Amino acid sequence: MPEVAWRTIGRMQFNYIANAQIPSSSGRTLPVIDPSDGQTFDELQRGNAQDIDAAVQAARQCFDAVWSKFSAAERGRLLAKLSVKIAEHAEELARIEQRDCGKPTPQARADALALVRYFEFYAGACDKLHGETLPYQNGYSVFTWREPHGVTGHVIPWNYPMQIFGRSVGGALAAGNCCVVKPSEDACLSLLKVAELAAEVGFPAGAINIVTGYGHEVGDALARHPGVDHISFTGSPRVGTLIQQAAAERHCPVTLELGGKSPQIVFADADLDAALPAVINAIVQNAGQTCSAGSRLLVEQSIYEPLLERLGKIFSNLRVGPATMDLDVGPLIRQSQLQRVWDFLSDAQVAGITMAAQGQIVDEAPETGYYQAPTLLRDVPAEHRLAQEEVFGPVLAAMSFRDEEHALELANATHFGLVAGVWTRDGARQFRVARGLKSGQVFINNYGAGGGVELPFGGVKSSGYGREKGFEALYGFTTLKTVAVRHG
Ligand code: NAD
Repeated sequence: MPEVAWRTIGRMQFNYIANAQIPSSSGRTLPVIDPSDGQTFDELQRGNAQDIDAAVQAARQCFDAVWSKFSAAERGRLLAKLSVKIAEHAEELARIEQRDCGKPTPQARADALALVRYFEFYAGACDKLHGETLPYQNGYSVFTWREPHGVTGHVIPWNYPMQIFGRSVGGALAAGNCCVVKPSEDACLSLLKVAELAAEVGFPAGAINIVTGYGHEVGDALARHPGVDHISFTGSPRVGTLIQQAAAERHCPVTLELGGKSPQIVFADADLDAALPAVINAIVQNAGQTCSAGSRLLVEQSIYEPLLERLGKIFSNLRVGPATMDLDVGPLIRQSQLQRVWDFLSDAQVAGITMAAQGQIVDEAPETGYYQAPTLLRDVPAEHRLAQEEVFGPVLAAMSFRDEEHALELANATHFGLVAGVWTRDGARQFRVARGLKSGQVFINNYGAGGGVELPFGGVKSSGYGREKGFEALYGFTTLKTVAVRHG
């Protein structure tokens, strides 16, 4: 087992290549900032194309010489060991994520436990992935193999680093690939720790490599590298386009998991006691910085006023503060994200959109932290950017609908199609609306409780077309080879 120098946050962080901590060849670093107070508490490597090249070479060597020789069951055993190891370090990982990303403790813990669960799920999936035998002409036997791509690149956003690493890297390793990971420059620390845990349980050098730094430097180099056989990208639609363009130059397959403007559709017959907590959680969880945030609230006209009144009271009582205070909402990730939310809110004011309610930032919140009170806006016009674009903050845009047809029209009236929540007791309507929604996921009388590690996840339209999570992800992380044998 390799020697592991335990990473302590507050000291310099290094790239992780072939199971070793490596400084960037750039000789440059980036500050790591605590969103709760805006202060720098660590440094990480500002990687470059040369670092990516070293990581890709390490992954290739590992794939050719070691990882491709592992049986599926052996891979599964190693993933299972990593799951157990992560569980043993879950509290430590949660604390790292809390400091790095500003997550209140329950959220940070939930993310660490989701990571445990991803590796547990994909450990069990390794030896269940198989091909088919196909009927063909007499005298032939034809079958398919699901083979790993080889070296997979993973570009990860800052909002759920552990969860997205789990679903993306967990699935890719299970399918037999070696991985080069580029986390967001705003959220690297937990993943660097997980890579060390992987080395400790016996992952061979080069199976998991992490290079930190800016997207336009490290992410771009990864997307362009000729040694990368597949790219999994989770992030904004804008960068998703850039990744696709770079990958298209060499016909490299890409999995895209992009943004959303997900509707919560509440019919008059809904169980509001069940719906309201889910509606609120879907927009305040992780301070609204969630791809599947339920950021549009569509309410049937006859219950619009009473529902907004109930919701407004709850919103007004939501409290925002430093991550370690464990209030309803923590800080946003960085100053530019806060500014983005302010820009949306000032546009709303200019357009005369009414603020129905707003939570409170507590006095203890440092002025240098990135805090935004949860905000409920009402009667937002369907064409306004608040009803069309991803805010990525705790801002809920409410509007009313006349009937089922109007609800579907509004729900489908954005460029996105990631998730939709439907609240109704009418069984036939549940099916009709689920069918009519242009969305990768539809949750009826719930909004995806429990993380849904087992459930395929992804979007349509500008939400991307990748499917990660669940068994489905393994198809994306493999390529299909058809073998035809003539024996007659
Ligand atoms: P982002 O697109 O700015 O960054 C994502 C990653 O891409 C980061 O690691 C970044 O460094 C990198 N990157 C930036 N520019 C790049 C470039 N030119 N080439 C290559 N890589 C580059 O997104 P973000 O702000 O980190 O995350 C928020 C976005 O992610 C939102 O749109 C959100 O909806 C989306 N998201 C989607 C899902 C999903 O499953 N669909 C999950 C989480 C987040």
